[in-house]
Amino acid sequence: MAGKADQKVSSINFSHRHCISILDSIEDGFFESDLQGNIIFSNLALCRILNYPREELLGLNYKRFMDETNAKRISQTFYMVLQTCKPAIFDYTIYRKDGSERIVATSVAPIMACDGSVTGFRGIVRDITKKRRTQWALINSERNLKERVNYLNLLIENMNELFYTYDNNARITFINKKSNEITGYSPEKMIGRSLLEFVPDEYKEMVWQGIRSRLDKGEPGSYETPIYHKDGSTRIIKLNTSSIVVDGNITGGMVLAEDITVRKQAEAVLQNTIKELKETQNVLREREKLSIIGQMAAGMAHEIKNPLTAVRGFAQLLAQKCNDNQVLAQYAGIIIEEVDRANKVLSDFLQLARPKPSVLARECVGDLVEETLAIVSPQAFLSNISVNYKPDQDLPQCMIDRNQIKQVLLNLCYNAIEAMPGGGVIDVEVGYLPKNNEVFINIKDTGCGIPSDQMENLGVPFFSTKATGTGLGLSISYAIVAAHKGRIEVISREGVGTLFRIFLPC
Ligand code: ADP
Ligand code: MG
Repeated sequence: MAGKADQKVSSINFSHRHCISILDSIEDGFFESDLQGNIIFSNLALCRILNYPREELLGLNYKRFMDETNAKRISQTFYMVLQTCKPAIFDYTIYRKDGSERIVATSVAPIMACDGSVTGFRGIVRDITKKRRTQWALINSERNLKERVNYLNLLIENMNELFYTYDNNARITFINKKSNEITGYSPEKMIGRSLLEFVPDEYKEMVWQGIRSRLDKGEPGSYETPIYHKDGSTRIIKLNTSSIVVDGNITGGMVLAEDITVRKQAEAVLQNTIKELKETQNVLREREKLSIIGQMAAGMAHEIKNPLTAVRGFAQLLAQKCNDNQVLAQYAGIIIEEVDRANKVLSDFLQLARPKPSVLARECVGDLVEETLAIVSPQAFLSNISVNYKPDQDLPQCMIDRNQIKQVLLNLCYNAIEAMPGGGVIDVEVGYLPKNNEVFINIKDTGCGIPSDQMENLGVPFFSTKATGTGLGLSISYAIVAAHKGRIEVISREGVGTLFRIFLPC
């Protein structure tokens, strides 16, 4: 009997050792504890995980290896296992003997006695530190990536420029919300469309070439183009563009565009202002010249006009005394004519240099034109020129200085006559332009015309192409009309004729 019993004991001891050696050979930690959680058995793997020799580990409570929070969690889990008698799995951080940390996953099951009562717990402890840390690193880097993407999105959506990308077919694949402002369309409405749809026809080729050189050659570029806004207005944008290269292949392009409409408008205004300033400077310079000429002319006019009067008087006397000598009488006549001409030049000089202030009154321009034509008609008739006048009965009155405007009309009519030495036609027309509330007077001849390179000289004092011209008639006329806040326009074709148009505000 005893022998059988010994045999049984030794076979139990053998299977116990066998179990221990099996448990010691597995990778995961294994433990058994009593109901309070004091370790009553540990395999070698658990000793390695906790960094304790087996003798020290036995009898230690699980709370020794963790902080309070985890200890609470585990005691709740133990309680649950007790209640349900079902195993549970959980993971937590443990502190090893040397103070270092490990993350472990533990599955716990109750130890049941033969009578069904629970006498303790047993479980497997797996070191998942490496796995968990890799997971955390992954989660962290995913979170970082997400944060960076969000940050970039925030930047792109809130930047002051329009930003968009397009694919190899020039179709927009992404556009920020600035598109609402610049094109009038939301980003959703813009996706899949091409910028070319918004570019005016005359700019399409240039923009298309730009896109091609991005897609074909990968060259960056910068250019300006107008684009149509949804509301029908036009914006000018400046684009800085480059290609998108993925794994060495061009997959599309990206564009940073700035709305420069306001800047362009300001530049245009500035250009205009500079131009006007230059013109004003020229006018001032011209005036300065004229005022110097005026002073000289005034001084000289006195000096020259007096002796001229004397010369004219004596020439008249001479003519009377030379009744019997026809040749001398003819010479005296020539002297008088030439003195008169000199006097006229001096008077014109004075008028231009020291214009008399205009005395404005309500006048009918039509009447004035008729009076002027009556004066020039004899000379026109002698030059074989017919004069046609087209009056306008409904012409409103204008505030003008009648003598000054009459002088302008005379100057232009004489110029027309002088431009047609072999005869021709002068057409004079008057009319009213309600849009600007102004009256116009057209004086059109069929004369020699003005070469285009001489057009800019018209109105410059002393510019004349005539042997005996003073070159003052147009200068005086321009000055008088400008003083009336009007303007003179000229259309001329060499060999065909010239049209002078005077515009006077009503
Ligand atoms: P002037 O008549 O003394 O030459 P103006 O100032 O009246 O001076 O005219 C300046 C120049 O403008 C003329 O010499 C002429 O070359 C040109 N011009 C003016 N009016 C006409 C016209 N109707 N047809 C052709 N040329 C003209
Ligand atoms: Mg003239």
